[in-house]
Amino acid sequence: MTGRPRAAVAALPGYQPGRSAAAVAAEHGIADAIKMASNELPFGPLPSVAGAISGGIEHLGLYADHGAAALRADIAAFVGLDADQVTVGAGSAGILQQLLLSYVGVGDKVAMCWPSFEAYPLFTALVEAEEIRVPLLDETFDLPSLAAAIDADTKLAFVTNPNNPTGTVVGTDEIIGFLGSVPPTCLVVLDEAYSEFVTDERVTDSTLLLPDHPNLVITRTFSKAHGLAGLRVGYALGHPEVIGMIDRTLVPFAVNELAQRAARASIDAASEMRARVAAVVAERTRVTGALRDGGWNIPEPQGNFVWLPVTADAAALGNDLERRGVVTRAFAGVGVRVTIASRDWNDRFLAALAEVRPKPTC
Ligand SMILES: *Cc1c(COP(=O)(O)O)cnc(C)c1O
Repeated sequence: MTGRPRAAVAALPGYQPGRSAAAVAAEHGIADAIKMASNELPFGPLPSVAGAISGGIEHLGLYADHGAAALRADIAAFVGLDADQVTVGAGSAGILQQLLLSYVGVGDKVAMCWPSFEAYPLFTALVEAEEIRVPLLDETFDLPSLAAAIDADTKLAFVTNPNNPTGTVVGTDEIIGFLGSVPPTCLVVLDEAYSEFVTDERVTDSTLLLPDHPNLVITRTFSKAHGLAGLRVGYALGHPEVIGMIDRTLVPFAVNELAQRAARASIDAASEMRARVAAVVAERTRVTGALRDGGWNIPEPQGNFVWLPVTADAAALGNDLERRGVVTRAFAGVGVRVTIASRDWNDRFLAALAEVRPKPTC
C-alpha cells in the first residue's frame, strides 16, 4: 500500500503552471520560443537586489528569522502601517493557502467571482469547503452579485484587484460598498498581486480601509512588480488578530534568508522598481492600442498582461501562437492571457497574432 491519501487531495488536479519556453521550443523544434505566460517581469533582479541576494549566501547554513521581523518592519514603513498589521509568507499564494487553512473548515463556504486566480479553487478544495462562484460581469468582478451570494456560512470571499486573468479593476468605492454589505463574519481577501501596475484613478490606497474593516485582509507580492517570482515572498496587511491567525499556519522558516534580504533591498530600491513598472505600463498601453487598432475587443488591462476573451477559440489560439514560439496562457473556452514583456517580445506576439488570426476572434 502507498498510504491512504485524503479523498479531497486525491481528487485535486494540482496547480497548472504556464509552460516553459524550453519545453515549447523542444516540442515544436523552435530555437527561440518566448514565455509570456506567467506574468513575470521582463527584467532580472535590480543590481542592488542581486547584490543583497549574493551577500546572503554565506548565511544559508542557518535558519532564517521565522518571524521575518526586519522585513515586516520595512514593509510596515513602506505601506504606512504598524508591524503587527503585516506578515509575510512563501509568495502571496502561500499566504492565500494559509488563510484557507486558518479560517475555513470542512463544509464552510468560500465565495469568489470567476474566472479568477486558479489557486483559489484548489485551496478551497484542499480544506473541503464549498466553493461559490459568481460570474464576472463585463470581464470584471461583480461585487453586488458576489455580496448577494455571501451568507452566514461563508467564511471567506476573494476580491482580486486587478483580476487575473482578465486584468480589470473595480474602484475602491465599490469595494467600500461591498465591505458594507458583507457580514463581518466573512473574511474579505483583497488580492492585490498586481496593484503596482494600476493606473485607473478609481483605485486608491486600500490600506486606508483597514481601520474600519477588521475583516479585510490585503495580499501583495514581491513576485510581480518587484520581479522576484523565483524567491517566493509575499505579504499580507490586516488587523493584528488576522495577522496572528495567518502566522499560525506558516510552515517553519518558509520565507528563506535570500527572499527576506531581496525583499528588503527591493523596498529600498522602490523608486527603481516603480521606473520598471512604468516601462511595463507604457508597453501595456502600446500593445493595447495595437490590438484595438487591429479590431480586437479587449477589456482595459490594469495588470502586467492583456486578456483576449476569445471564448471558444482560446485553446486553438494558444496552440497556434505556441507553434510560432509565443507561449501564452490559454484558458480553454474562456480566453488567452498574454504577459507584457520587452518591446521585442511584445512585437513578436503582435506579429504572431496577426499571422494566425488576421481576423480578430473577440
Ligand atoms: C501571481 C498571483 C499571485 C501569487 O503570486 P506569488 O508568486 O505566490 O506571490 C496571487 N494572486 C494572483 C491573482 C496572482 O496572479
